[in-house]
Amino acid sequence: MIAEQARLLGVRTVALDPAADAPAFRVTDEHMVAAFDDAAALEELCRRCDAVTYEFENVPGEILVPLCEKYNIPQGCQPLYDSQDRLREKTNARNHGLQTPDFAAVDDEASLREAVRRIGLPAVLKTRTLGYDGHGQRVLRSESDLEGARELLTVPCILEAFVPFDFEVSVVTVNDGQRAVTFPVGRNIHRDGILDLCVVPAAMSETLHRRIEAESQRFMRECGYRGILAIEYFVRGEEIYFNEMAPRPHNSGHYTIEGCTTNQFRELVRYLIGEPLVEPRLVAPTVMKNILGQDLEAAEAVAREGREGVYVHLYGKTESRPKRKMGHITFVGMDLPRYEAEWSARFVK
Ligand code: AMP
Repeated sequence: MIAEQARLLGVRTVALDPAADAPAFRVTDEHMVAAFDDAAALEELCRRCDAVTYEFENVPGEILVPLCEKYNIPQGCQPLYDSQDRLREKTNARNHGLQTPDFAAVDDEASLREAVRRIGLPAVLKTRTLGYDGHGQRVLRSESDLEGARELLTVPCILEAFVPFDFEVSVVTVNDGQRAVTFPVGRNIHRDGILDLCVVPAAMSETLHRRIEAESQRFMRECGYRGILAIEYFVRGEEIYFNEMAPRPHNSGHYTIEGCTTNQFRELVRYLIGEPLVEPRLVAPTVMKNILGQDLEAAEAVAREGREGVYVHLYGKTESRPKRKMGHITFVGMDLPRYEAEWSARFVK
């Protein structure tokens, strides 16, 4: 999706991906098949490009840091480094004035018991690195759950207080060092730990909306981050709690392609090529539905219908599996009650 927008802006692209059939290769001008930690290949990629970005969070720092010194990687290493470890990520968020759930490092059973004593239950135990979509985490509701949580403790973990949130939101900001543009806040509805729907506007008070936008921009500025940053928050009453961040386009921001006058991918490319950023506006209320493997056929049927305001994106991944993200559908001019009444029955419950 970054490459699609780059092309619209007249920019040529090269993608590096370990899979020979990576969907991005259909869209980019050139490509390289190599592992994300193949130092020689990454250096070759940098040599071939005027500007480089990442769309994958786990590029190892020891490879990226020297490349950042030699080549033009405008987002730099810092936001990636800060987001690669949940303990570092939450500590950094708190140090820069964002409220987080109470948390503690957990390395073994003794520190887990100590963290539970301090934070209380319910709490969420998560692996510090490489977790996504609810993988590598476990909700602990009572002392008896501690036994079953042992299997996570083979790697460093973090224990977080469970936030009984009203709902979850995310916000995408692009900052070029002079100004920042923020996309309308989306309300995220998860199923089995995976984003299912993103609903915009997020239906909350104007004050809260403005606070999420202002805090996110301030946070980015104070951390010195440039480029794109997505932040997920829990909302409880008028309180917001930082959950996690990603220095790349975000799944919840896919709605911006048709739901806004400019989108997260295009503004990232503008930043990378040094063009002035453009302020986005919501075109109309929008609902984005993620298409996992089990919904692929239903999504193909929706695509064939060609309904107005319904935009089907299928990524062209060669292997479909239940729970694998295969695409998304954006419904522009749609709100949640109407989506539930008219569309939700088309997809697997
Ligand atoms: P994460 O991978 O950290 O985004 O967690 C996946 C999902 O688990 C979140 O979107 C929440 O729905 C839930 N979750 C994670 N951390 C907490 C928490 N501290 N309190 C309540 N729910 C959480």
